[in-house]
Amino acid sequence: MDSIKANLLKLRETRKKILGCLPLYPPMEIFHAMDLIPVTLWGLRDMIRTLDESDRHIQNYSCSVARRAAEFILSESGMMLDGIFAYNACDTLRNLPEILSNGLQDAGRPLPMFQIHVPMVPSGQTDAKDYLCNEILSLIRLLEKTFHIPFSSDRFQDSVEKYNEVRNLYRRMEKQVASGKMTFQDFMIAFHSSGFLPVEDQIRFLSGELDRCCNKESKPGNHPIMISGILPPPLPVIQAIEKAGLRIVCNDIASLGRYYGYSPGLNASVEQYFVDFYENHIPCPTLLYSADNRMEYMISVLQKTSAEGVIFVGEKFCEYEYFEFPYLEKRLKDKGVPSVLIEIAVDDEDNIASLKNRIDAFAEVIGQHEGRP
Ligand code: SF4
Repeated sequence: MDSIKANLLKLRETRKKILGCLPLYPPMEIFHAMDLIPVTLWGLRDMIRTLDESDRHIQNYSCSVARRAAEFILSESGMMLDGIFAYNACDTLRNLPEILSNGLQDAGRPLPMFQIHVPMVPSGQTDAKDYLCNEILSLIRLLEKTFHIPFSSDRFQDSVEKYNEVRNLYRRMEKQVASGKMTFQDFMIAFHSSGFLPVEDQIRFLSGELDRCCNKESKPGNHPIMISGILPPPLPVIQAIEKAGLRIVCNDIASLGRYYGYSPGLNASVEQYFVDFYENHIPCPTLLYSADNRMEYMISVLQKTSAEGVIFVGEKFCEYEYFEFPYLEKRLKDKGVPSVLIEIAVDDEDNIASLKNRIDAFAEVIGQHEGRP
């Protein structure tokens, strides 16, 4: 998507250091408070069309998220980065920093790597708060040493407010979609256009988009549904969903609802803020300790939004998601909620005829279904 490229060029013009963060949920507020520009390297589907560099280092049976992030970092695009941040999100991403380090070393442009380990144990079972606090403080010390920028609590609070505002704007935008004032397709276009922008620009851009749609008339589709997965489906698939008369009233997508669904409160110390951030995060299979809460969370959202069914958007080769799909589908079926799984692979996004058929068939099922969770 041209907007990503244009936004990346604008970032370069700020002359600030840019930190490429591997998905899923990096501590953006810390980086911003230290005058760095963090960019989470997902949503690259429309920008990264070839995977030549990635394929030299990563098996082609890895997910598209990891392959595109690797391609971005190892190809010419990665030259705009001043460092890379990663944490133990999933098995694929746990191993990526070492591969990237070696690849960048071979290319003669090594970059500083920053890593933390987020404990994946439920807080009721093992108290690992002190460990996480130490990881956060160690990260800050390393950033200070590398970039010669001191950390300030006041600036951190300012960053927290800004990121909370962005999350809040996304939540408001999602409500506009649910009310039919905005299509999910338009929401996605706005979401992608705001990606790779400094957080201040994101706030301005999203506020403008919200103002624009507030005056529009509601055009609700026939049947409200939820979509769930790591990434939103490609635009042609979203169009197919909306054309089939389905209205996406809520999402359990890692780069969307799971990312912006929860904001910790203000005025906590930086380490306590991130204890709260990870502990109370919207459940995600990559945050292993949250897995037990996932079904309960999904059901509560389905009830709140009156969604009548779920489309699971499977990211091919994402074992974390795929291990859970059969269980989730069964639990939803027991509750009388129809669901369907569509799979998106790195190389079949332009050939979506079979996906359209499945979506149309699912819309028919939903049309005949009268159950509610
Ligand atoms: S899609 Fe799945 S396997 Fe790939 S990076 Fe995300 S969580 Fe990991």
